[in-house]
Amino acid sequence: MSEVELLRKIRPTWLSRVVQSTAHGAGVRQDIRQQMERFFDLLEQTVESGDPGWLDPMLVDWASSMTQSDLESETSHLTPFLGEVMQTTLAVCQEQLEPAQALSLINLLIPSFTHAFEKTAQTEVHNRIRYATDELESVRQDIEKLDRSKSDFIAVAAHELKTPLTLIEGYSAMLKDSLGSQAAQETEAALLGGIGNGTRRLREIIDDMIDVSLIDNNLMALNFQPVWISRLLIALGNELNEALQERQQKLTVEPFPGSNQMSFGDPERLLQALRNVISNAIKFTPDGGTIKIDGRLLPGFVEVLVIDNGIGIDPDDQAIIFEKFARLGSSQLHSSGKTKFKGGGPGLGLHISKGIIDAHGGAIWVESPGCDEMNFPGSTFHILLPMRSEPPDTKTARLFAPLMDQANPIKTS
Ligand code: ADP
Repeated sequence: MSEVELLRKIRPTWLSRVVQSTAHGAGVRQDIRQQMERFFDLLEQTVESGDPGWLDPMLVDWASSMTQSDLESETSHLTPFLGEVMQTTLAVCQEQLEPAQALSLINLLIPSFTHAFEKTAQTEVHNRIRYATDELESVRQDIEKLDRSKSDFIAVAAHELKTPLTLIEGYSAMLKDSLGSQAAQETEAALLGGIGNGTRRLREIIDDMIDVSLIDNNLMALNFQPVWISRLLIALGNELNEALQERQQKLTVEPFPGSNQMSFGDPERLLQALRNVISNAIKFTPDGGTIKIDGRLLPGFVEVLVIDNGIGIDPDDQAIIFEKFARLGSSQLHSSGKTKFKGGGPGLGLHISKGIIDAHGGAIWVESPGCDEMNFPGSTFHILLPMRSEPPDTKTARLFAPLMDQANPIKTS
């Protein structure tokens, strides 16, 4: 008897045993019976042709019909099922055939089952990877959608808040004017001063929110003009003088190479970016501390360093602080304020600074040994800006052509 004939001989017993051992419930059994009949047909083909690949379509079908919970669970369901089928096959061979016949049939069947295990495992892994990739993609799309709606919300909320704020500002200005000559001026003036401070701070936060939505939507337009880093730093030194005095801090600006060299950038935006970093240095350095600004000229770039001897930043937080709404634990302990020690803010400043510097083609990062509110290890913010000898657009280039000729005399000669 050939091996195919031997196989056919065990078919009825094999079928009922396999169905019994693998399926539970009458409905399932009927379905399994049909499937196992097809499997057995293919098994016959593998024995006849010596090619276990005949089983592949069936195995791929099985592996592809994995349910979501199969795909999510870590264990394979198909491998134990195949193991069960193989064990039953071997047992039926031993029971139904002469030992020599059983041995020669088993010898032919083993490679087919080995192939089946390999193919199933491969297809299962492949399906799991595809499932995980799809899941990841859908999570990514959800996050993107969430981020977009957050950004849309910020933009809408900020614009909506601007209108009532303008009304408050207008009415308090009118009130101030109408109080001008009254005797009770001093008390009212103080109260109006309070309203003024509040509305100014609110306007700053709203402007920051609008800037964040501009950055997140890649809409930040730069107004390129000639800039000198040294002049920006002098302006900021003057602007922040009051806060520095209040905190008894010292700001020193080193005349570093490149700081006096003309470049092209958006002076307002660069001021804003540097202001946020230096204000933070003031905020997170204790009273009496020092903030130093230094830098160096690199090929094609100027690097500005804002060095403080404040509380420092943990290495784990050094990337997070440039994300929007980033506030680290310690800063929330204290009252809100622009320059008060550890004053809490909305966590938008560094995100905006990064957006502005990125838009210029530069980079910003921080170095610090860690956060220590007893020993004040300090932080150093690095701001890398490209040195541009001309603005990126031809219109501005034409406008500033005479200045550019002065700055680059070799080019014109
Ligand atoms: P905020 O409006 O809260 O100041 P920022 O984006 O400017 O937001 O800063 C985010 C966080 O980064 C701060 O809350 C603070 O925890 C941390 N941080 C920024 N600059 C410094 C610094 N120079 N020293 C220590 N921590 C800093």
